Amino acid sequence: MASQRHPLQINVGFFQNLPIGSYRDIHFDFPALHLPPDLDITDFSGLVHISRTPQGLLFEGNFKATSSMECVRCLEPFDLALETLFEEVYSYKSPTFTDSGLYVPEDGNIDLCPIVREYLLLENPIKPLCKPDCMGLCVICGENLNLVKCEHQARIKIE
Ligand SMILES: [Zn+2]
Ligand SMILES: [Zn+2]
Repeated sequence: MASQRHPLQINVGFFQNLPIGSYRDIHFDFPALHLPPDLDITDFSGLVHISRTPQGLLFEGNFKATSSMECVRCLEPFDLALETLFEEVYSYKSPTFTDSGLYVPEDGNIDLCPIVREYLLLENPIKPLCKPDCMGLCVICGENLNLVKCEHQARIKIE
């Protein structure tokens, strides 16, 4: 069901004729994934549990991914593990029916890319650090103080 162009697109058309309470689990697993326009992740895996409710479809997602970040202190790239849990209702009525404005389209195709991207971005720290006690760069010579001890550090402490 997954294509490269829309890797997280699923068709939920078959739910229309199923009784309330019916559900399906859909698993996803990608070594690398691009979530347009700006999020590239690796080791993406997860599950969306979709259940039929009186209003529409309840999506309960649980996704894990690895995101490549740059430390704000030492500027080194590092991998950050992200995990997100979310719940959204896609309504069978008009787009104004739910607060979120999510609804099941005529053709039953729902692309989870935008919503997964949104939730994973919420997990991204505003100031990513490679480790909580990252020493950063020396303001004078620019050395990475996690790796080396430069001559300027003693002076900075005295001042
Ligand atoms: Zn760092
Ligand atoms: Zn220095």
